[in-house]
Amino acid sequence: MKRVLVTGGAGFLGSHLCDRLVAEGSKVYALDNLHTGSVKNIEHLLALKDHFEFIEQDVCEPLELEVDEIYNLACPASPIHYQENPIRTFETSVLGTRNMLLLAKKHGAKLLQASTSEVYGDPQVHPQVESYWGHVNPIGIRSCYDEGKRGAETLCFDFRRVHGLRVKVVRIFNTYGPRMHPQDGRVVSNFVVQALQGQDLTVYGEGQQTRSFCYYSDLIEGIYKTMQTPDDFLGPINLGNPHEFTILELAKKVLELVPESATGGGGSRASVSRIIYRELPADDPTQRRPDIGLAQGVLGWTPQVELDEGLRATIAHFKKSLLQ
Ligand code: NAD
Ligand code: UDP
Repeated sequence: MKRVLVTGGAGFLGSHLCDRLVAEGSKVYALDNLHTGSVKNIEHLLALKDHFEFIEQDVCEPLELEVDEIYNLACPASPIHYQENPIRTFETSVLGTRNMLLLAKKHGAKLLQASTSEVYGDPQVHPQVESYWGHVNPIGIRSCYDEGKRGAETLCFDFRRVHGLRVKVVRIFNTYGPRMHPQDGRVVSNFVVQALQGQDLTVYGEGQQTRSFCYYSDLIEGIYKTMQTPDDFLGPINLGNPHEFTILELAKKVLELVPESATGGGGSRASVSRIIYRELPADDPTQRRPDIGLAQGVLGWTPQVELDEGLRATIAHFKKSLLQ
């Protein structure tokens, strides 16, 4: 049985990845310090003792575990959470990744690093291709995350050059879906929860900044496929949905779809929520869209779930979970 470690395994993406790996028959170890993750996300796996184990631990702390593969996802991903303790965020990315690379080296394991579109910063090349080096503020409020993830990429490539380690780097673009924490703070969960609770939707700035939203199931498939690529494929590889929306368009879509969910698809009820405008946070990227040519070519991967369908499923999830 393949032994696979998923750090950040109790988080939004990590827990879905654990589901996928358990389903294919691996023995999965989920390591998480529960900073932004929750045991609720992996509760259903805890009973499968031969296939799943939870290790409550910080990714920076020493770990002795014989594994064949490591998916390194441990890191708060939402701006409000990664900015709460920026020094810790930077350490989690850099020291946590170093710790996992050393573990991979010890056991000859393969490591996949969850990097991010944030390595492109506020991009001056659009859409973003992997060969673009980015436009990142090294000393701003997002730097703990952006530079932390860039440092983690550097470590992966240096462990490859120095120690011949098998590494893969995926650059994930905004991904959403069930199991995001209702107070996660990222835009999709914020808008959906606000609309479901009849609160106004908080658009930052004028809402003209863009993002491209990927549904979690597509992303998990992309991550999984990247791990299966030949050892000489390291990436970095963009994973995301290439359809781009302004944040204002997203808000309007949510306002359309949430009442529709209340009327069982009839869509006749108007939303009680309005759109309100709040200050744009510093260094907020103005545009973001992945060029996924590499993923299409190397992985034969293209996202299948478009925004309306993914939002409907996400709304249904939050409707249920907010009632519990
Ligand atoms: P998330 O916050 O739900 O998951 C992160 C998980 O890591 C949480 O369970 C958290 O408790 C855990 N964690 C944080 N610090 C830790 C530490 N020091 N030790 C152990 N565990 C720790 O967010 P997510 O969206 O699931 O993100 C997962 C990974 O994917 C992150 O590395 C993130 O940077 C990356 N990513 C996500 C997106 C996205 O849009 N979802 C985009 C780009 C990159
Ligand atoms: N955003 C917003 N309202 C919110 C949360 C976020 O308008 O309640 C905006 C935010 O300013 C950014 C975009 O939505 O321009 C995406 O934000 P998120 O935190 O989801 O991810 P990131 O900025 O890291 O892409």
